[in-house]
Amino acid sequence: MSGTQAESLCSCARQIGCAAILGVTCGRDADQSWIMKTTETALFGGGAGATSLFERLAEHDHEQVVVLQNRETGLRGFLAIHDTTLGPAFGGVRIRPYGEEREALEDALRLSRAMTYKASLAELPCGGGKTTLIEHAGLRREAAFEGFGTFVESLGGRYFCARDVGIRDEDLAAMARTTRYVALDPAPGLGDVSEHTAIGVWHALRACLEAAGIRGKARVAIQGAGSVGTWLARILAGEGMELLVADAVAERAAATARETGARVMTPEEILFAEAEVVAPCALGGVLNRETVPRLRCRVVCGCANNMLSRPADGDALAARGILYAPDYLANAGGLIRGADYFVLGRMDSGPSLERIYGRTLEVIAAAKAQGISTARAADGLAQSRLKPRKTFGDLKWRGELHPPALTHAE
Ligand code: NAD
Repeated sequence: MSGTQAESLCSCARQIGCAAILGVTCGRDADQSWIMKTTETALFGGGAGATSLFERLAEHDHEQVVVLQNRETGLRGFLAIHDTTLGPAFGGVRIRPYGEEREALEDALRLSRAMTYKASLAELPCGGGKTTLIEHAGLRREAAFEGFGTFVESLGGRYFCARDVGIRDEDLAAMARTTRYVALDPAPGLGDVSEHTAIGVWHALRACLEAAGIRGKARVAIQGAGSVGTWLARILAGEGMELLVADAVAERAAATARETGARVMTPEEILFAEAEVVAPCALGGVLNRETVPRLRCRVVCGCANNMLSRPADGDALAARGILYAPDYLANAGGLIRGADYFVLGRMDSGPSLERIYGRTLEVIAAAKAQGISTARAADGLAQSRLKPRKTFGDLKWRGELHPPALTHAE
């Protein structure tokens, strides 16, 4: 990038007030080379095998990444818009004391893509985005969120944000003062989003039990008795399932157990419990090289995001004959509720949530037919709703395969 190009991008960023675009910050580094280069190196590692920013974005075809920076409020972070083929990008704002910038960017890229796939598979008229903000000592929180809201508003609806990890009620309120494109919860008639997520998990689980030939009262081990895990326990108790539950905070597990009749296990034991179903409802990455070989269940179906630490773990589950309900398929209930309420103006999401059952059966059938894991089958179905790949073979010239001869008169 030339100095002039960078300067003009910087002036554009200054006009927006709080943002710099694609890693270009407003100034030069000590070597007098533009920061764009420095940012790429810092984020993706220098030397042989380093990935450039554009290569990283091209990997999963991200549409846009905004680097957010405002010196006055201390706002720092990334907004990734993965895909808007199906509609505005939906995605939460999360704030954490990220150790490195790179971690925050990686989170935004990974989670925005997952949102696109989740929306696509749920057949929603929206795409995927995500914002990751860096929590640090110099952050003037209220002003930073107001500034962020101003930026979201400037996108004119391309991105619609909601609460995610670390966001407080007052942060949402600050954003709502400067943008219309934020989901305020609670909102009248919206209901409890976590309950909707849990209902969706139940529909996915029904399909898995049926496909695995498990009839009657299954034993389900729930990892995490938080908002969704507790709702799931309530629903499953109502269905007469035998429940095991664990939480890193012992009192939460105990409270859920008292309410639902579940038996409490330790957080170390729960994944490896002897049960038909394991329902991860706490953290991502719980299905990995170490844990998959030790599972003793027949089905994994829960609400945690990014359960697989890598795609190969989905293959390993399939190889062990364990039926895995892809996380973004099973946990789409919250997003479905948000889209129904905020985009489509629907007060009842019951029928939309129920469709998770049929979609789960569809994914299981596709995996079987293609001899692949359910995780890969879900990715395939989600991708099939996104932009068709453009190939030279598809090029048409005024509706014909070959360009007609041009005359100078044209
Ligand atoms: P939450 O914070 O209310 O609950 C998570 C619970 O897991 C907490 O009680 C925590 O103490 C517990 N926990 C953490 N580490 C644990 C461990 N090692 N062993 C056992 N318990 C542990 O969160 P939530 O809203 O219920 O969401 C749970 C998961 O589902 C997250 O991965 C979230 O991203 C995902 N999710 C949530 C929703 C939603 O509607 N809330 C929607 C989609 C996906």
